[in-house]
Amino acid sequence: MIASKFEFRSPKDVEEAVRLYREFEGEAVYLSGGTDLVPRMKLGLEKPKVVIDLKRIASLTTVEDQGDWIRIGALARIFDLKQNDIVRGEFPALEASLEGTSCESLQMRGTIGGNLLQNSRCLFYNQSEFWRRSKGFCLKMGGESCNAVPGAKTCFANYCSDNATALCTLSAEIELSGPDGTRRVNLEGLYSNKAERPFEIQPGEILTAIFLPKMRSVGGYEKLRVRGAIDYPLLGVAFSFVDGTGKLAVGAVGPRPYVVEIKQPFRDTVGEAVETVLKQVKPVGNTVLDPDYRKQMIPVLAGRLVNKVMEGAK
Ligand SMILES: Cc1cc2nc3c(=O)[nH]c(=O)nc-3n(C[C@H](O)[C@H](O)[C@H](O)COP(=O)(O)OP(=O)(O)OC[C@H]3O[C@@H](n4cnc5c(N)ncnc54)[C@H](O)[C@@H]3O)c2cc1C
Repeated sequence: MIASKFEFRSPKDVEEAVRLYREFEGEAVYLSGGTDLVPRMKLGLEKPKVVIDLKRIASLTTVEDQGDWIRIGALARIFDLKQNDIVRGEFPALEASLEGTSCESLQMRGTIGGNLLQNSRCLFYNQSEFWRRSKGFCLKMGGESCNAVPGAKTCFANYCSDNATALCTLSAEIELSGPDGTRRVNLEGLYSNKAERPFEIQPGEILTAIFLPKMRSVGGYEKLRVRGAIDYPLLGVAFSFVDGTGKLAVGAVGPRPYVVEIKQPFRDTVGEAVETVLKQVKPVGNTVLDPDYRKQMIPVLAGRLVNKVMEGAK
């Protein structure tokens, strides 16, 4: 499959990138590693006239200790980040999710910002235009109803960022810069809860950085996938523990990660936390695994992960 023709621009700073976006508003997209965007373009899911490459903007690639916060530039590559001393020392849940993201060749290209802003996925959507047209366009393509659950007026595509799930347990914040200035919000505030348009992001906004409160957490990440060597998560569970409180997050079973705080002793509270998540998630038959199985694996992965992390912390 060949992407439709586009112009390529390579600005040197965020201001220039935003200016270019405004010039071509509605017809431009930002590019980081391209491992999500380029396949979408080849499937005809995106047909931009202009691709604005962010890779030459040096300020977006660094990891800095800023006192109370660690600032991770959105263009930091997953492969570099998983080997970063600060990440390894302070944020083990993130280290584990980075390690579990796709495979090393994609990690060397893919960035943390692109990972957070990857679009939600569905077996009935991530297909060629020919395939999608033959079935009739679904809600996510501007159609009338869902193709995975015929007749449904809700989109059930899954948001599959491994690292968003881990970052939510670490109380991450994100910085966005766009035509109306710069703002900083909790990562959880990025999500619209609507799978067809998963992000609360204004046109032209660039994700510039991720901020993590400095803390020496213990934590981890468990992932369900068919091939351990490369696949997207069909379920992802992250857990981080700091100062007596734990945070559990469940991802890849809906349009956003589901986050719950849990208090010690975890053997008594983890079941309750999982119940809270189970009430919110509705996996359907739009991945290669049975939806009931994915749901049943939530308590299994959560229990296993919390035990493993707390055993390791002793
Ligand atoms: C075979 C395969 C397996 C994969 N497996 C996994 C997996 O296991 N886990 C997982 O989490 N992901 C997986 N991915 C998805 C993807 O490769 C990664 O999420 C990757 O980190 C995306 O980063 P990128 O820099 O390549 O993003 P890009 O493709 O460059 O961008 C992704 C999206 O974000 C937008 N964007 C990028 N950067 C910015 C920015 N700074 N500001 C505003 N908008 C921006 C782009 O316009 C695009 O819409 C997989 C992909 C493939 C092809």
